[in-house]
Amino acid sequence: MSETLENLLHESRRFPPPAEIAAHANVTAEAYAQADADRLAFWETQAKRLDWARPWDEVLDWSNPPFAKWFVGGQLNIAYNCLDRHLANGLGDRVAIHWEGEPGDTRTITYADLHAEVCRAANALTDLGVDAGDRVAIYLPMIPEAAVAMLACARIGATHSVVFGGFSKDALGGRIQDASAKVVITADGGYRRGAPSALKPTVDESVAECPTVEKVLVVRRTGQDVAWDDSRDVWWHDAVGNASPEHEAQPFDAEHPLFILYTSGTTAKPKGILHTTGGYLTQASYTHHAVFDLKPETDVYWCTADIGWVTGHSYIVYGPLSNGATQVMYEGTPDTPHRGRFWEIVEKYRVTILYTAPTAIRTFAKWGDDIPAQFDLSSLRILGSVGEPINPEAWMWYREHIGGNRCPVVDTWWQTETGAIMISPLPGVTDCKPGSAMGPLPGIKAEVVADDGSIVGNGGGGYLALTGPWPSMLRTIWGDDKRFLETYWSRFAEQGFYFAGDGAKRDEDGAIWLLGRVDDVMLVSGHNISTTEVESALVAHPAVAEAAVVGATDPTTGQAIVAFVILKGGAEVGVAELREHVSKTLGPICKPRQIMLVTELPKTRSGKIMRRLLRDVAENRSLGDVTTLQDSAVMNLISAGMQSSK
Ligand code: ATP
Ligand code: MG
Repeated sequence: MSETLENLLHESRRFPPPAEIAAHANVTAEAYAQADADRLAFWETQAKRLDWARPWDEVLDWSNPPFAKWFVGGQLNIAYNCLDRHLANGLGDRVAIHWEGEPGDTRTITYADLHAEVCRAANALTDLGVDAGDRVAIYLPMIPEAAVAMLACARIGATHSVVFGGFSKDALGGRIQDASAKVVITADGGYRRGAPSALKPTVDESVAECPTVEKVLVVRRTGQDVAWDDSRDVWWHDAVGNASPEHEAQPFDAEHPLFILYTSGTTAKPKGILHTTGGYLTQASYTHHAVFDLKPETDVYWCTADIGWVTGHSYIVYGPLSNGATQVMYEGTPDTPHRGRFWEIVEKYRVTILYTAPTAIRTFAKWGDDIPAQFDLSSLRILGSVGEPINPEAWMWYREHIGGNRCPVVDTWWQTETGAIMISPLPGVTDCKPGSAMGPLPGIKAEVVADDGSIVGNGGGGYLALTGPWPSMLRTIWGDDKRFLETYWSRFAEQGFYFAGDGAKRDEDGAIWLLGRVDDVMLVSGHNISTTEVESALVAHPAVAEAAVVGATDPTTGQAIVAFVILKGGAEVGVAELREHVSKTLGPICKPRQIMLVTELPKTRSGKIMRRLLRDVAENRSLGDVTTLQDSAVMNLISAGMQSSK
């Protein structure tokens, strides 16, 4: 970006917190004041929400930035904090997980059940030769064993690396090798769109090329046939099923490596992000308590992410379980066996807090308002969004059609690298604006900065930067300190700021708006225009469900705006009208040169739009790395359409 981002989209709607939620909120406006007065004391207070085997000597060691150490000298066991201490508090009978399989089979797992299973798995992993510090790869469907496996690793101090169950042999193999995993935990298969989908063959192929792997532990989920290597493969039901449910958790150092997780790969080759123990759990736990206002006695919480993404790590496993939450976990897709499946689950379990992604919300809006209207969603009280900027109209749809105009919508900005939520409204405190993540949470320092690293005032746009260390920050990229320094800390080295890679603006009231990836910003006739704002303008047209916008090289304007648009079911509109609509909303400079109506967009497996591939199409290039793409056939369709529309 040559200068700063233009500030084009104006939003005047705002929604104050409902009185009921404000009156009983876990966290009030005072938290901001406390954190401002003494940030380290604030985090120290939050760390005390956990049980430590040994207290820390120092809250933060920032003597060798950007290599942070939080809660130096402290020791704790993560699984103890997620399980044993709840049992000690008499909560063993509380439901931890209402699990719903895609075919409709269910399991109800109490904290006592989960504790016993994690202890068995911890004993089994130890018997398989896993020691503290070893890496274990986890490649599982969304079944309770995924959470059990993670917690069992944490319990014995093994570092887990969860790989999304939809990834290919090469993606899995690359991640196993990068971390030199000793054991892989997988399943015969999982259910996906109404049919069993095999996992074990992918593991067999990957492991053949990964000499570090000694054992493969296999959960039987679908019952499908699997090839078996007696010297290497072990059934979960044998090894874990026969293990003792007694296991005493040992404390680990606050900086002990907890997990490696690879980023989604939206912009580049995935990076193996390393998270450690004490600071990570402190912030995952606190933010879950604060942002979702969790009342563990009465709430039923549901995060629809997959455990293979950071959202699943922090807001299915570590945050909720450390807080003693009762949650729903769902194995399958939102349209199996019908498009009302999510709402059926909300109704069935009386879900009170729902955390999902803009891609899902836009899809539901495309399918039609009448689908959620058929279910009783009155139990819901708080809605969350994560993963991409949420367009104001998608936010409004979520609030109205899912939240009955009564639930606050919290748009939470964070990354694999940040480990936990960084920028978000608080549901009992913040007046929300549709499409804005509002401001940094208490204890978090974030700013919008210009090209030269200077802080941008209200009304300005630029880059999002994190201007102080935070407890759940990544500690490095696994095995690659150099890439860690280059990727995040070189851009604003002089100021010592973390470069998030996202464009952002401050509106006139100081609220923060995320404007998409810096790599995606368009330069049109000397103006820096955000893809997000043009997409949001398109989505605000009543016929449009979803839009992706890219800048394509143009002989006259430098770059020109090319938009790919999905219409709502049954809607019809001409592209001329859509171009005019954008021009009226944002100004003539933003009028797309070309709009293509499409039925699908290229997305990562976590549902993020991959604009770089659309840019390749718009500029007539061969496609870049597509290994993290959800469905590669989509790109052929779009390329063919692009050719014929020229
Ligand atoms: P890679 O870094 O490999 O390209 P990725 O950035 O998609 O992959 P994640 O860590 O899963 O990997 O995603 C974090 C990114 O998602 C953020 O940097 C931001 O671009 C986007 N994001 C997440 N939540 C929000 C949000 N609430 N508003 C806007 N953008 C968001
Ligand atoms: Mg990223």
